[in-house]
Amino acid sequence: MKRREFIVAAAASPVLAKSNGRLALLGGEPVRKESFPSWPRFDAVEEKALLEVLRSGKWGRGNGKMVDEFEKRYAELLGARHVLATANGTSALFTSVNALGVGPGDEVLVPPYTFVATINIVLLQHALPVFVDTDIETFQMDARKVDGKITDRTAAIIPVHMAGGAADLDHILRIGSERKIPVIEDACQAHLGEWRKRKLGTLGVTGCFSFQASKNLNSGEGGAVVTSNDEIMERCYGFHNNGRGRKVSSSDFSYRQGGANLRLTEFQAAILLSQMTRVERQSRVREENARYLTSLLEKIPGIKPVRNYEGCTRSAWHLYMFRYDKEAFAGAGRDLFLRALAAEGVRASGGYSPLNKEPFIKETVLSKGYRRIFPAKLLEEWVERNACPENDKLCQQAAWFTQTMMLGTRSDMDQIAGAIAKVQSQAGELRKL
Ligand SMILES: *Cc1c(COP(=O)(O)O)cnc(C)c1O
Repeated sequence: MKRREFIVAAAASPVLAKSNGRLALLGGEPVRKESFPSWPRFDAVEEKALLEVLRSGKWGRGNGKMVDEFEKRYAELLGARHVLATANGTSALFTSVNALGVGPGDEVLVPPYTFVATINIVLLQHALPVFVDTDIETFQMDARKVDGKITDRTAAIIPVHMAGGAADLDHILRIGSERKIPVIEDACQAHLGEWRKRKLGTLGVTGCFSFQASKNLNSGEGGAVVTSNDEIMERCYGFHNNGRGRKVSSSDFSYRQGGANLRLTEFQAAILLSQMTRVERQSRVREENARYLTSLLEKIPGIKPVRNYEGCTRSAWHLYMFRYDKEAFAGAGRDLFLRALAAEGVRASGGYSPLNKEPFIKETVLSKGYRRIFPAKLLEEWVERNACPENDKLCQQAAWFTQTMMLGTRSDMDQIAGAIAKVQSQAGELRKL
């Protein structure tokens, strides 16, 4: 939008018009002084459920009922065949790659724009993460670039449903089935998100969720693997239970496979069951607020709200992401913009750094162990092969609001947009800092 058009739009929108007054970063009045909604939300429902577990003395999976009940109810909520609760989202992903037999010498396609756990679980298998560049408009793995990254070593594709929007599953699932490569959905940010009316996490061979404290469904820590495949579910169960199958008694020390202890506790399951009574309503509030906020931010020059693919029939809005174009802000850099915005009482994060350039990942890939597993030439070419220029750009332009801010009121959204509009209209002042 040109500056003239913006002034017209701003005049039509009282929210954006209130953008005069000195910037708070330069000593003016902040747009907002109150804090945003607190998280987590809980009441007597959680208290009662926790006390019930406490007093039962059945605190672990195996003797209690809460974990089983949670798995059943979460499966119903998603329309999934099987759900396995795990200790956290990282262990849901870790369990998935183990159940699918991803191991040393394999390559796994991953996005560079994600939480680091998506990559760590590949490295824990001594497999090679191969990065697929990002679609800058959607912040998702660029499905058009997946096919070109596949080799005869590719053992899995892990699209991440960033922010609870959806990766382009039409493309990615088609490539997966054509090339016979399993797709693991990292749905750790995507509770109740949908692709063509089906719940995210239920479309791949497995889908993985996180219930870590910041997530839209929260038990402090927690996670789940979702699958419609009976055999894969048995392998996941075995892996998360130190190799012991579902039906063994506590005195039976025979093992169906290797594994680890990645079980959820009864206390966490009790909290999840309680939090699930709120999750649909909260998701609707976030959706409504996100839609309204987008309608406001679209009018501000230099602010580009995230675009979701047409197939994404519902986003979880775990984050509200947008891109910042400094040219429309008198050349003020993104971090200065974020500081000015925070001073107005609206905090945003600058988001992830590019994981394909992360030194610890490169060190791991070039380590002694990896050199024993992979041909030297393959490892030498890894760095170059993993250049993700679009993602590099995105990491410099991105900004996010958290899901808890999206739980607020319409007037909270007005203030968020008002603060950005104020900074935009006086961006020239920032340059003097
Ligand atoms: C949170 C998250 C994870 C890891 O989940 P934890 O429960 O923190 O282990 C993995 N991937 C993504 C995209 C996440 O956001």
